[in-house]
Amino acid sequence: MNWPDKILICEVGPRDGLQIEKAILTAEQKIELIERIADAGIKIIEIGSFVSPKAVPQMADTDEVAKKMKRKADVEYRALIMNLKGLKRAEDAGIYKAKLTVSASKSHSLANLNKTPEEAVQAFGETAEYAAVHGISLSGAISTAFGCPFEGKVPLEQVMRVVSCFYNIGVKEISLSDTTGMATPKQVYEYCSKAKKLFPDVVWNLHFHNTRGVGFANVVSGMLAGINRFDSSFAGLGGCPFAPGASGNIATEDLIHMCHEMGIETGCDLDTVISLSRHVQELIGHETSSFILKAGKSSDIVNSFKNRDK
Ligand code: ZN
Repeated sequence: MNWPDKILICEVGPRDGLQIEKAILTAEQKIELIERIADAGIKIIEIGSFVSPKAVPQMADTDEVAKKMKRKADVEYRALIMNLKGLKRAEDAGIYKAKLTVSASKSHSLANLNKTPEEAVQAFGETAEYAAVHGISLSGAISTAFGCPFEGKVPLEQVMRVVSCFYNIGVKEISLSDTTGMATPKQVYEYCSKAKKLFPDVVWNLHFHNTRGVGFANVVSGMLAGINRFDSSFAGLGGCPFAPGASGNIATEDLIHMCHEMGIETGCDLDTVISLSRHVQELIGHETSSFILKAGKSSDIVNSFKNRDK
């Protein structure tokens, strides 16, 4: 088997996680979370989104967060945008990495944006031109890349058509997102292997929600297909837009724990992430779908038995 030596984790909790929470954190609280996750060794952090505050009130202060947070030179701070207006807000706030998102499913995209996925990416052309001139790098996220609530399984060819649209406007870092938690390990392996073959110079990233308990099996499938960048969320925050109350993103501490137990480096300090994730649960005021926060680390159990025998 083709296991990676190390993986790169992108923390999406401050955006994908907090955006669906009822509790709206203050800018100071968000800044603390972002600074602490950077201290834990995470090198890519999605700090928020520059979208309409009416649509997503939880993200209304992303400008303030970006301007006030302390930054590390080797960390990439990125934000989600929907259009040129959002990109300009990012630039004003000193954010030089922006993520554009489009749905792979035609019905989902038409319902949300009144555009097909291909039209939606083409509409990003002006934004991509501005980004290129102003030194802002872009990544493209393809949501419902594996399954769509309206259409079911999204065919590989359809996903690759959207990838090539991104590619044609110069976006060569692409995330395949299982927003709805419908992906399965075999499908992930097939889609990722094919994607890597068709677009060998694209930097691939995977984004899994653990909605139906197969998030980590999907991570492993992605690894075996040669992908080594994964999104995750502290405490497993996040949800499924079509299933209120469902499990969220795979939890950062669960991902780090699994990797370290397999001898795969993440560059992160697990204990720092665990204490941060406990703090996140306190801030939002409810339990989340993190496994490690409930069960502890494997090594905790081994140590507790060793101590009992003494
Ligand atoms: Zn997500």
